[in-house]
Amino acid sequence: MSALKERILKDGKVFPNNVLKVDSFMNHQIDPSIIREIAREFYEIFKDAGITKIFTIEASGIAPAIATAELFDVPMLFAKKTQPSTLANQERYETDVHSYTKNVTSRVIISKQYLNADDVVLIVDDFLANGEAALGLIDLVEQAGAIVAGIGICIEKSFQDGRTKLDAKGFKVHSVCRIASLDNEKVTFLED
Ligand code: 5GP
Repeated sequence: MSALKERILKDGKVFPNNVLKVDSFMNHQIDPSIIREIAREFYEIFKDAGITKIFTIEASGIAPAIATAELFDVPMLFAKKTQPSTLANQERYETDVHSYTKNVTSRVIISKQYLNADDVVLIVDDFLANGEAALGLIDLVEQAGAIVAGIGICIEKSFQDGRTKLDAKGFKVHSVCRIASLDNEKVTFLED
């Protein structure tokens, strides 16, 4: 069993609405050994894909994304949820992302300067639930004319429909762990 799965079973807490809290090792306090192992797995899966950039959304995607970028030796870019006053409208790509956990829609932006048509992008995020964050990031990559080579997810909640949506669009998705259910506050993984 992977270190991430073991840690989820040991320290993950199930909240209402099928929210898994992993604040003690991924989303608030961060255990670098878990993040390192996740990054190594993404590197093994996507190392031959010609990746030029790792792309995520703030804040909780940043830790796995930076560890992954280090292994690929490419820059890491994150979409911002706040609007920088120093970035004019015509200098940015923007899209709307609905947050599953916060139930709010945020306009997220990147500077056009940091993503272009030559880029081959690996999207990384901490969770995949309904796919809103991943689809928003894909939209930004496509606005830039770049290519999405794949999507690396730390924790996929396979009982929600994000994975199905991404598969249907033909994206290569790799999830380090896939959760079949959080029923009765118990984490059950899909068989590997
Ligand atoms: P999606 O956009 O796929 O619906 O949800 C993914 C995003 O919502 C991730 O970026 C993550 O921050 C957040 N998220 C979704 N489900 C969970 C969850 O069960 N636990 C935590 N901690 N975050 C989640």
